[in-house]
Amino acid sequence: MKFARRVQELPPYLFVGISRAIAAKRAQGIDVISFGIGDPDIPTPDPVLNRLETALRTPAHHRYPESEGLPEFRKAVCDFYKRRFDINLDPATEAINLIGAKEGIAHASLCFIDPGDTALVPDPAYPVYEIGTMFAGGKSHFVPLTAENAWLPKFEDIPTDVAREAKVLWLNYPNNPTGAIASLEFFNEAVRFAKEFDIALLHDACYTEVTYDGYVAPSILQAEGARDIAMEFHSLSKTANMTGWRIGMAVGNSDMVNALMRVKSNIDSGLSQAIQEMGIEALNLSPEWLKQNNDIYRKRRDRVVAILNEIGIDAVAPKAGLYIWVAIPEGYTSAKFAQKLLDERNVVVTPGNGYGPAGEGYIRLSLTTPDDRIDEGIRRLSGLKLS
Ligand SMILES: *Cc1c(COP(=O)(O)O)cnc(C)c1O
Repeated sequence: MKFARRVQELPPYLFVGISRAIAAKRAQGIDVISFGIGDPDIPTPDPVLNRLETALRTPAHHRYPESEGLPEFRKAVCDFYKRRFDINLDPATEAINLIGAKEGIAHASLCFIDPGDTALVPDPAYPVYEIGTMFAGGKSHFVPLTAENAWLPKFEDIPTDVAREAKVLWLNYPNNPTGAIASLEFFNEAVRFAKEFDIALLHDACYTEVTYDGYVAPSILQAEGARDIAMEFHSLSKTANMTGWRIGMAVGNSDMVNALMRVKSNIDSGLSQAIQEMGIEALNLSPEWLKQNNDIYRKRRDRVVAILNEIGIDAVAPKAGLYIWVAIPEGYTSAKFAQKLLDERNVVVTPGNGYGPAGEGYIRLSLTTPDDRIDEGIRRLSGLKLS
């Protein structure tokens, strides 16, 4: 038996190695504190769970859902967009549900990439943009994000012949793993670039609601002319502590949304309608609930930033997202430094190079660890010698 190239060339999923290292330690009876994967530890809120209790008794939900999602869910998505970004979307044509944003992101490449086509993919980035491109037979041209440019791509540095060939540009702000944010002016610039070269603009907006210190993240659809060329992905995973339920959405240009719906309708048979009902509830969580939830992360963020600075690692508190992204001391690679923390302190972090070559020299710490485990992690890091 011979496996397809797309399987042979698949790199190991970033967190598999980390999970294995943790498992090995635990097998030795060692307690490991993980700042690794970004997966909220806080439970799904009660109103969302209560909605499932009634929804599961609805016989219509026991049958195949429509690929594009319940009209009520799509309306809740558009109402959220109106409330949050002052954008009017048509629930019939400009919004669909996803089985988590990851599913939509991976399948979106199938809408735009033919074998041999080019996608513009940030480096470092969430790995699925590149993998989805590879699955579609395309190749990624990596657009470096650098600390000097506040982890934003410089469109003028993309060679014109590459831009002419490219079919897709991926962006993700607030950003995982760097914690960077983008302004509406930057999104305007991105739309102008995408229009100039006739490139589909795909924005992963999973963290727009996970923000701190009064920061309000924009949607790319607020940019001038974005509706002509852009589609935006959202997730209820991080916003409403729903990673386990698998629910997200895509909104934007109706032709792009329709293409994704048609691809999906041939691959999956939609998202459980009972979970879509939970999604309606999650999209209507009060601003007070969101603030309380984000306050938990904000307090963790401040404490983790403080301990990093104390041991001599320069850390700046991000305005959004669930991650602290820091440069490691000279003399280490990302992997070596992560290994040092595991060996000497039984603390797990993610090596930055897992997000692309430009992530080398960095590590990522996730804030999705319970408060008492964060305390213990901080205690373990205190006094760490870096030389
Ligand atoms: C967590 C995450 C996702 C995945 O969201 P799901 O809805 O759980 O699939 C997508 N993009 C980024 C950048 C993420 O960090």
